[in-house]
Amino acid sequence: MGIERSLELSNSDALVAEEMEAFAQREVLPYASSWDKAEAMDPEVIRSLSKRGWLGALAPEAYGGQDMDPLLWGRFCESIGTASSSLLGLPTVHGMAIQAIARWGTDAQKETVLPMLASGEAIGAFALTEPEVGSDAANVQTVAEATGSGFRLTGRKRWITFGNIANWFVVVARLEDKPTAFLVPSTNSGLKITPVKDMLGFRSAELANLHFENCEVTEDAILGRPGFGFSHVAGTALDHGRFCIAWGCVGLAQGCLSASMEHAQEREQFGKPISEHQLIQRLIADMLVGTRAARGLCLEATALKRAGDPRVIMETSIAKYYASQHAAKASRDAVQILGGTGCSSEGHVERYFRDAKVTEIIEGSSQIQQLIIARHGLMQHRKEKRKKATNP
Ligand SMILES: Cc1cc2nc3c(=O)[nH]c(=O)nc-3n(C[C@H](O)[C@H](O)[C@H](O)COP(=O)(O)OP(=O)(O)OC[C@H]3O[C@@H](n4cnc5c(N)ncnc54)[C@H](O)[C@@H]3O)c2cc1C
Repeated sequence: MGIERSLELSNSDALVAEEMEAFAQREVLPYASSWDKAEAMDPEVIRSLSKRGWLGALAPEAYGGQDMDPLLWGRFCESIGTASSSLLGLPTVHGMAIQAIARWGTDAQKETVLPMLASGEAIGAFALTEPEVGSDAANVQTVAEATGSGFRLTGRKRWITFGNIANWFVVVARLEDKPTAFLVPSTNSGLKITPVKDMLGFRSAELANLHFENCEVTEDAILGRPGFGFSHVAGTALDHGRFCIAWGCVGLAQGCLSASMEHAQEREQFGKPISEHQLIQRLIADMLVGTRAARGLCLEATALKRAGDPRVIMETSIAKYYASQHAAKASRDAVQILGGTGCSSEGHVERYFRDAKVTEIIEGSSQIQQLIIARHGLMQHRKEKRKKATNP
């Protein structure tokens, strides 16, 4: 593809990556199951992420962020993904809000909101899905009407990750029938936030439903231009979201692999460790190969992101599609290898199993990724064909 594939971290970033991994193992993994059971995220771990500057790391340096290198960010998502998918939801959606504002916001919006998101003093979330509109997201039904001094939003948003504790929402609504993004603070009196409980996975990701009723916002709340809400603002946000989830799935699959190898070498049945039974070896081999392949696809997308290459959109979809499917399979096989122990909540694989399934649905389901990948692939094919025809 003409892109440098041997990706490496600088020496200082390599140290940060080690610190991130240690943080995830020490301060996240041991507590992730209890957060999952409580269906709530510990505010202390959020403070720890903010204190280290990792929550807002992708914000531009000019606004207090770090403009973090995509490879280091990928490693961060991988480390957190091994420990807690719910917690990974936070840098994912917070980063979606940051990326959308950094790319499409006015100077005033950037100056007002980005520094507080970058420092972690405020939490950002992304509100696209509605009760009647999921995958067909360009068709959102939440309405924005001009009032003369600004806009009035009316409608509902569903399953908004960290919506329960977010301070700022990027909300996509229809303005004169065009999908348009708005920046709405959680303190707006026309916005009602209701916690969502009892989901299959991502149970401590502080999900919420949003109800906009007479939700008045000022004229300068528009993010990007009218009509840009889905194609541009959500496009930027979702590309970031897929990147985070893809890397997080590599981490989750790696967690499944470690738990499976550990258990298979300790547990004896029929007079020997189950790791010596070839049918178990087959599961481990597939898990190992799939995890390597998923990491390779994430690295491919990371190289394009680093290079600012527009092909990153397709490669990120490919990475998210493959890594989430692999994570779901790896978690299923990990439960199989651990047997009854895998079905109990005393370890991590039962949680991995529930969370991995969700990754095949969020940030565009597997079917939506297939549509995106095929559309981009066909477009590239036509482009190459035209190029060959003009330069035989
Ligand atoms: C834990 C969790 C967190 C979430 N966080 C957020 C968030 O922060 N912000 C937000 O806006 N949303 C969020 N969502 C919503 C999520 O983005 C949607 O669930 C997702 O986009 C799918 O929409 P849907 O659930 O309405 O399913 P539908 O769109 O109703 O799809 C149902 C099934 O039909 C398939 N399908 C749909 N269209 C096609 C097609 N054209 N071709 C083939 N198959 C198709 C889908 O792949 C899926 O399998 C979250 C959801 C969950 C579960």
